[in-house]
Amino acid sequence: MIHKPVLQKEVLHYLNPKSNENFIDCTVGEGGHSISILDKSGPNGMLLGIDLDSRQIENARNSLSDFEERVILQNDSYVNIKDIVARENFRPINGIIMDLGYSSQQIEQSKRGFSFSRDEILDMRYDMQNTLTAEKIINEYSENEIGRILRDYGEEKFFRQIARRIVGERQKKRIESTKELIEVIRMALPPKFRKGRIHFATKSFQALRIEVNSELDNLKKALPKAIEILSSGGRLVVISFHSLEDRIVKIFFKEKESEHLVKILTKKPITADSKELSSNLRSRSAKLRAVIKI
Ligand code: SAH
Repeated sequence: MIHKPVLQKEVLHYLNPKSNENFIDCTVGEGGHSISILDKSGPNGMLLGIDLDSRQIENARNSLSDFEERVILQNDSYVNIKDIVARENFRPINGIIMDLGYSSQQIEQSKRGFSFSRDEILDMRYDMQNTLTAEKIINEYSENEIGRILRDYGEEKFFRQIARRIVGERQKKRIESTKELIEVIRMALPPKFRKGRIHFATKSFQALRIEVNSELDNLKKALPKAIEILSSGGRLVVISFHSLEDRIVKIFFKEKESEHLVKILTKKPITADSKELSSNLRSRSAKLRAVIKI
């Protein structure tokens, strides 16, 4: 397994899986979290694993093969969680986990341009049926639209300069690869912002990925559905990887707490301990929040 699950012991602590309970892993990926949940929910607890990326479903099928009879896998979006649960007659639901974003596996092996450290086509889709790609955004969206995406989804302060440069360059030639895009971004930035601990294209890449996969909209739509389908006493655990996601989760949990639908279990977001921080890069930005349904 290439992908190391983040905050694994914290997920188990807040999800608190017990013998014969049922769980949904909304982002099953390579099954990292699912394995440890299944370990605790035997002998009869079921796990419904969902992933938008069909290759991740195959990866999960392999890594969860020891638990075959207790696992249902669905290649779908967690936005459809309610329909999936109804169709599979999956209940009661004792806990739900969402481990947002993308996995190391997708960065390393998908060849879909998720990383600025590789020269790949500008794709960035989790779902290969999706008709929108990063290449289409870069070459076909208006300058204003691109600027808005970089500002709202990347919190990129040079959004205007980058959008202008993209639109200028694409008139000479379509921008088709991550390498070409990085060079355009580099040229748009004042020289002293081209260096630094964090790569200068990080925010733009995040923004494109969010737009391609409607990540924030999906999260906003799925959270209420997750609460709705949980049994009383069931838990929802969400791990986010940037402030935009975390803000959505935090505000949603507060709102539901004020409606007396849930109790928040994490007053402050839970982050990785120093041991994990030093061994798993992806854990650096991870924030976990959890609620229990009343
Ligand atoms: N917890 C997993 C890793 C999850 S990485 C593990 O331990 O192995 C995030 C996963 O969410 C990726 O596999 C990605 O394809 C998937 N994903 C992203 N958006 C999704 C959506 N809307 N619905 C379902 N899965 C999604």
